[in-house]
Amino acid sequence: MSVLREALDHQPETKAFWSELAEGRFKLRHCRACERAHWYPRAICPHCASPETEWRPASGQGTIYSYSIARTTAEPFVIAYVTLAEGPTMMTNIVGSDFAEIAIGKPVEIAFGHQVEDGITLPVFRVV
Ligand SMILES: [Zn+2]
Repeated sequence: MSVLREALDHQPETKAFWSELAEGRFKLRHCRACERAHWYPRAICPHCASPETEWRPASGQGTIYSYSIARTTAEPFVIAYVTLAEGPTMMTNIVGSDFAEIAIGKPVEIAFGHQVEDGITLPVFRVV
């Protein structure tokens, strides 16, 4: 078992996120008390400390808040902060996009099916 798989299997608060994502559904944890979404998934709302949180489908839409292109690796890649339409900002990768079209403020959408080791799917985005 990989280190990543073992880490994910021991995080009950995020288990549903990973299994839904692998099925092509992007969900965020949402607080019924303050009506705000948060990232990363937690049972207790980080905004108001309420335990009244639930999974809700997310749009998968967002904008690039900041990014960096790693060019020193054999295969260059883009790491970015994306601000989701629902409010939270998450660290992710931008894939399937020309580096020239990546810019702060550009709209992006989730790109499903980005598998890494051990069949684990990561939430990554592409420029739209
Ligand atoms: Zn809350």
